[in-house]
Amino acid sequence: MSQIQNPEPILITAGGKIVCRRCKARSSRTKLQCSKPALKGKAVCGHHGGYSTGPKTQEGKDRIRAAHWKDGSETLEAKAERKKKFAELNQLAAALGLKP
Ligand SMILES: [Zn+2]
Repeated sequence: MSQIQNPEPILITAGGKIVCRRCKARSSRTKLQCSKPALKGKAVCGHHGGYSTGPKTQEGKDRIRAAHWKDGSETLEAKAERKKKFAELNQLAAALGLKP
């Protein structure tokens, strides 16, 4: 029980050649501390959520949005325009009696 409250902060690998911080995550099943080294600047390993969770600044979000841009057919404006046109089409179909 004391091991759960005080996790091992240091991990020594490669026969004592590498000393690094240890992942602080615990298994929910065995309650044992993860034995992988923590990522640089993080308290947990990549398996326990240490990897990036995406851009945070508006500049970074814009850069990712520009990198994923294909033809603009799925932008919010294009979807709103498509929805408006389908509503018009449905109104016309209803006016002509083509729809129940
Ligand atoms: Zn881990």
